[in-house]
Amino acid sequence: MDNQQLEKHKANILVIDDTPENLHLLAAMLTEQGYKVRSVTKGSTALRGAQASPPDLILLDINMPEMNGYEVCQSLKENERTRDIPVIFISAMNDVIDKVKAFTVGGVDYITKPFQIQEVLARVENHLTICNLRSSLLEQNARLQQEIYERQQAEEKFALIFRSSPSPISITNVSEGRFIDVNNSFLRMSGYCLEEIIGRSAYDLNLGITQQQYAGAVEKLLLTGCLQNYEMEFRTKSGEVRIILLSAELIDLSGTQCILNIINDITERKRLENEFISLVSHELRTPLTSLIGSLDLLGTGQLGTLTSKGQQVLNIAITNSERLNRLVNDILDLERMKSGKIAIQPVKCNIADLLIQATEAMQAMAEKAQINLITEPVIADILADPDRILQTLINLLSNAIKFSEVGGSIWLRAKLQINYIQIEVQDEGRGIPANKLQTIFERFQQVDVSDSRKKGGTGLGLAICRNIVEQNHGKIWVESILGQGSTFYFTLPLSN
Ligand code: ADP
Repeated sequence: MDNQQLEKHKANILVIDDTPENLHLLAAMLTEQGYKVRSVTKGSTALRGAQASPPDLILLDINMPEMNGYEVCQSLKENERTRDIPVIFISAMNDVIDKVKAFTVGGVDYITKPFQIQEVLARVENHLTICNLRSSLLEQNARLQQEIYERQQAEEKFALIFRSSPSPISITNVSEGRFIDVNNSFLRMSGYCLEEIIGRSAYDLNLGITQQQYAGAVEKLLLTGCLQNYEMEFRTKSGEVRIILLSAELIDLSGTQCILNIINDITERKRLENEFISLVSHELRTPLTSLIGSLDLLGTGQLGTLTSKGQQVLNIAITNSERLNRLVNDILDLERMKSGKIAIQPVKCNIADLLIQATEAMQAMAEKAQINLITEPVIADILADPDRILQTLINLLSNAIKFSEVGGSIWLRAKLQINYIQIEVQDEGRGIPANKLQTIFERFQQVDVSDSRKKGGTGLGLAICRNIVEQNHGKIWVESILGQGSTFYFTLPLSN
């Protein structure tokens, strides 16, 4: 069934004529074509009927007693419910039809008797089509108006949030990373004015993000659509470095793919956190030393012999206080390194010696855990602080042992590159999930929250390693396949 047929089947037509023969003729003709037809002989009845159930089209005789066609049409047009129904006038052959009047009272067309069936049908169909088109246009228009209204509302809401947000917000284009707009909070934090920022990139402005970091962030964004709480440094116009959490979303701005960047400045929070941790650690150190000394003294038996149950409890106390001591020492160590209180002393040393020393130091732990430790050193002179490099190697080996299964192997290698040395610690342990490969180098970051408790670590080892390596002008990173093992890499400069 095509559209026209469907229209015909559905269309309701009201025929009003005081001559029953005409009425029957028209009704029969239209019914045969699939229209639903209601026919009445009086204008007043027609008005009531149209009001109760508005038809899709009206065929209206002009010459009728009581109320003529013009009057009926006028009433229809005055009423909200029937105003838009198309009215086609019908006039007898000898009637003088007042065409102007027919149109001024609201008729859309007229037909003169005797009718030609094809003509009546053609006009009816025409007006039904026009009427349908008109109502769908009106509907579409209303929908568009609504959409425009909703869009305007959303834009206004966004503009308001953008302007008044206490969080620094910027919009950059994806292709070049250039700033398209920034809010006042962003200007306040960065120290720049709008003209200095718009059209330039974070890289141009030296805000602390490298082109490589930007490309990595965009790649992640395009892949996942959003980026959340990415911790990074932000350099202001005056050169001050602030710690921020960056969250970003892809948005479409008039057909240009852009990034909406929302910043959370956590510099103050970090400062307080560091201050608190170091304060607590300093305060803990003295009582902790005294506690460990007392426990050791108890263990010697000089103060009396303990029952075997008492000895067990003492051992638990010693293990835990030693762990707490390690934690406090690591925190203070990290803090001193970060604040530059411990100066790194780079000297010429041989990397093979350091690898062998580290292996010897860890051999006992590896044997206890039934793990095979394989060292593949190369003889090369590096420029680094040997004690700190040894500390790094021991830390990485200790982690590799902790997270390996009985019977596994660990390789400690050094590889000579063009102007640096690359050290690798490879294990066959449980591996590290992809989303943790970066974060485990942060303070207190672990793959599993229970790792430090179960394995006796502090969650600071890798943060310390990263600090040491970076202070020795190297880089540290990890590659891993879950369930198959991890390889930690770090580089160090060669000594010329
Ligand atoms: P911890 O004292 O907990 O070992 P680290 O900073 O040295 O602290 O390590 C952080 C976390 O990284 C560990 O708790 C563990 O979840 C993960 N990790 C480190 N090394 C390995 C490894 N070789 N294999 C698997 N996971 C590791």
